[in-house]
Amino acid sequence: KLSKRLATVAGYIPKDAVFADIGSDHAYLPCYSILQGIAKAAIAGEITDGPFISAKKQVKKCELSDVISVRQGDGLSVIEEGDSIDCITIAGMGGGLIKRILEEGSTKLSGVKRLVLQPNIHAIYIRQWMMENGWQLIDEDIIEEDNKIYEILVAEKGNSMLPYQTYSIEANLLLGPILAKKKSVVFQNKWTQECNHWRTIVKQLEQAGHTYENNEKFKELSNQIQLVEEVLQA
Ligand code: SAM
Repeated sequence: KLSKRLATVAGYIPKDAVFADIGSDHAYLPCYSILQGIAKAAIAGEITDGPFISAKKQVKKCELSDVISVRQGDGLSVIEEGDSIDCITIAGMGGGLIKRILEEGSTKLSGVKRLVLQPNIHAIYIRQWMMENGWQLIDEDIIEEDNKIYEILVAEKGNSMLPYQTYSIEANLLLGPILAKKKSVVFQNKWTQECNHWRTIVKQLEQAGHTYENNEKFKELSNQIQLVEEVLQA
């Protein structure tokens, strides 16, 4: 059975898409999406030997070798001209790495209609990249599985900066404009926990004699707490 996390990612892949799953590991997402009748064909990209071999094995086991091409390489380099990829999924990595993969593979994005990204941390880097590169967030999701909280970002080409200007740009980038608008229970739990953690650190810094003015961490965390409060207390 596929994890709730990856099943949620699959739910945002357009019907009949030909998609590339980058950092596919066991190729569970491509196999599932095709067996469920969501996608038509897929590329499973992997940089590391072990996961690349696991992906090949899984695709063979599911008898999907004719519709899933397993390729070894860094990021979007596995996408070739003529693949006609219309969707890219990248899941289970940090936002910084996902951003780097998109940046370094920017030439491969020209025909791509949709990105479905699931950063484990630092979704903010991806939202910033989207804002600077003409990708519009069209949906966001947040789920909890095994006591971990995951965000899913869905984007399509567009000229809008960020949807919903209810909050400041900084708050929208940190928390996600669509998630902040929906304010689900999971979302509220995530940011309440984060904020409590930051407050503890700020208190410790304060007790050690640091201030907002003379300590970068103090300043950064205090600012973040304010952004979260802006949304949660609205
Ligand atoms: N996408 C799967 C998931 O969400 O369950 C696997 C996530 S796993 C934690 C991250 C995978 O990304 C690893 O198998 C790793 O080898 C691969 N990876 C890391 N950097 C990569 C890169 N630059 N290009 C392709 N794959 C990469």
